[in-house]
Amino acid sequence: MLNPLSILLVTVLSSAMAMAVLGSLWRAAIPGVGYWISANAIAIVALLAFALQGHGSRWLTFVASNVLLAASLLMVVEGCLRFLGRRVRPWPAYIGLVVVLFGISYWTFAAPDFNARVALVSAFHAALYAALAALLLRGRPANRPRYSYYFLAVAALLLCAGHTSRGLMYGFGLLTQSSLMQVSPSNIIFLALGILAPPCLSIGVVMLAHDRLAERLERLANVDDLTGALSRRAFLAIGDALLKASLRTRSPVALAIIDIDSFKAVNDNYGHAAGDQVLSHFATFVARNLRVGDVFGRLGGEEFGVLCPATTTAEAVSLLDRLRGRLAGAAADELPRGLRYTFSVGVDQLRRDESLAQLMARADGALYAAKASGRNRVMAA
Ligand code: GH3
Ligand code: MG
Ligand code: MG
Repeated sequence: MLNPLSILLVTVLSSAMAMAVLGSLWRAAIPGVGYWISANAIAIVALLAFALQGHGSRWLTFVASNVLLAASLLMVVEGCLRFLGRRVRPWPAYIGLVVVLFGISYWTFAAPDFNARVALVSAFHAALYAALAALLLRGRPANRPRYSYYFLAVAALLLCAGHTSRGLMYGFGLLTQSSLMQVSPSNIIFLALGILAPPCLSIGVVMLAHDRLAERLERLANVDDLTGALSRRAFLAIGDALLKASLRTRSPVALAIIDIDSFKAVNDNYGHAAGDQVLSHFATFVARNLRVGDVFGRLGGEEFGVLCPATTTAEAVSLLDRLRGRLAGAAADELPRGLRYTFSVGVDQLRRDESLAQLMARADGALYAAKASGRNRVMAA
């Protein structure tokens, strides 16, 4: 039988399940998860307090229940702020929570008014849901799939619409009732919509947390830990796609294979840690000087690859020669005293109907020639 009490108890169970699912993500140390677990715990207490209406004190079943439910939504928003890396506290929402506390107390004890309580609480929820939707739509990382962010934002917008209509209807007296536990069609409809809120929010935040886990795994697979450049695997995969696109549009692509000169001597003379510092310094230096669209990866050891779309061999040679000059002139403050290094480059341009492997073999040949003719130079195949 669909009555307010059973709706509340089903929601309690769904929040408990959500806590269990979110608990499984606790050890992944994803920012926000702690807030989301707390949000469900607070919601459970609030819903049980609502369920006691008519049996417990009005402080518990009217005031604490409403304020805790509002606080639980605030914790969801706080969690999303942390998740998106925002350090700000939503102070207006905390002030709103105090207003809810005083308003509910007033319309419970001083001038009992069910409609006024509903209008006030609905206004608070609607405002927070709108803020949550805006936060997710604006704060979504550009490089991540949209699905989970949009799911949560759409759920928040629908819940915002539900609370807005509920608040307006009760606020303007279009609907009247005296208790949350009253079995009336409108009350059941709004409560049934309300029952969807905790699972929708929880599914949404679990999807966000899973996307963060996926991002971490993708990063581990695609980004070289020491240098921050693409891993060899990712460089080859992205390079392959770039080459195919360039062959279709008949636009030139240049490949440069870069190798740090006498790197073994750096390790031997300054130690392996200094060698690592050089690798990371070099990768930062190159990445800073490339254009958007260039693909930069660590092919192995002290060897790197750069793919430049819409670039001819001659243009790539001059680009890398400029980098070579700039590195020689740049004071490497981050490196141990006296440590300087140079690099050699082999460059070539994609020919029709050839693979990345064939292009790499020719650029490698040019690199070999650059080494043989004295190092610290850029040579075309
Ligand atoms: P060349 O100018 O001909 O390129 O000489 P090289 O000394 O740079 O080349 P070689 O291939 O003889 O030595 C490369 C060295 O790079 C050997 C290897 O121990 C070192 N190396 C490879 N990966 C790493 C790394 O991640 N960190 C450090 N510190 N050294 C590395
Ligand atoms: Mg080398
Ligand atoms: Mg090498």
